[in-house]
Amino acid sequence: MTQIFNFSAGPAVLPKEVLQQAAAEMLDWHGSGMSVMEMSHRGPEFISIYKQAEADLRELLAVPANYKILFMQGGGLGQNAIIPMNMLGCCPQPGTIDFVHTGSWSGKSIKEAKRYANANVAASAEANGFTSIPPQDTWRLTPGAAYLHICTNETIDGLEFNFVPQVDARTPIVADMSSHILSRSIDVSKYGVIFAGAQKNIGPAGLTLAIVRDDLLNEALNICPSAFHWKTVAEHESMFNTPPTYSIYIAGLVFAWLKRNGGVAAMEQRNIEKARLLYAALDADDFYQNRVAPEYRSRMNVPFYLRDESLNEQFLAGAKARGLLQLKGHKSVGGMRASIYNAMPIEGVQALVDYLNEFAGR
Ligand code: PMP
Repeated sequence: MTQIFNFSAGPAVLPKEVLQQAAAEMLDWHGSGMSVMEMSHRGPEFISIYKQAEADLRELLAVPANYKILFMQGGGLGQNAIIPMNMLGCCPQPGTIDFVHTGSWSGKSIKEAKRYANANVAASAEANGFTSIPPQDTWRLTPGAAYLHICTNETIDGLEFNFVPQVDARTPIVADMSSHILSRSIDVSKYGVIFAGAQKNIGPAGLTLAIVRDDLLNEALNICPSAFHWKTVAEHESMFNTPPTYSIYIAGLVFAWLKRNGGVAAMEQRNIEKARLLYAALDADDFYQNRVAPEYRSRMNVPFYLRDESLNEQFLAGAKARGLLQLKGHKSVGGMRASIYNAMPIEGVQALVDYLNEFAGR
């Protein structure tokens, strides 16, 4: 059978070992006689799964003790509303949020925030077609803004921050890391809030992580639903209401897999190598094109275009025949996109590179 490599942007490939372990434990978790899906979230079995997942994630990202890790629902887009509702309660209304618009996902965050606040676009890459991040000295930040929101990896446009913005110490940075969390080392203490939907580098859809500095667990706006009030969620150790238990379990298996494989630092080295291989093939001549400025090219999501777009369907059909799946670009930008998350082995990237070379007739 042809080996399959899945380049989906999310939900996305998971480590095979994790899926095998989940399959082996599906009917009977550790002699409990129950599937994890069937367990009470308040029972000792699930509490042990949850506590281990939390501890492993804390260790992997070196999350300082003054940050809470919240296991929530609602996805990245849910957080676009949950964040303003949680962070604007303490300022005079309406508060102001600064944004850097670097692509589709920060764009959606801006749109949603306008329902709750003044959304100031401090800088935008729209004019250059989201191909580079505006230099920080051109950003027009608002003194006294409630926070600065950035999307550190734009999944559709393929742009990734390679720096942490320098801001006034009183302005928390809120970072949407949905599509590159755990793919590179980060200094959590530089951020006020980090959030991520799980379905790319963490586990199944349905789980959303929010890592929130303690002093930001403020009184939220009155309209904030209790189940999305960070302070309430934190006080109940993510069990104010039923959390997405099975997604947390799989995320925990992924965290353990990461730890067995050298943690985030080792992943980062692998990801650098995978991205280098793929961009080198795309850059070899003008048959393919990635339009992002090299210093901001994403290591996780690699959009590209064929010079002759009439060959798109043929390219995708040939890829599928070789077991290279889900390479079609996002409908809003067209072209192709290869997502090469942590669980994509280097062999998968090599197989794609071989196909790129063959298709281009090199
Ligand atoms: N932010 C980023 C960077 C994303 O890639 C996505 C999903 N692709 C979202 C937010 C939205 O996530 P969700 O669909 O889980 O709401």
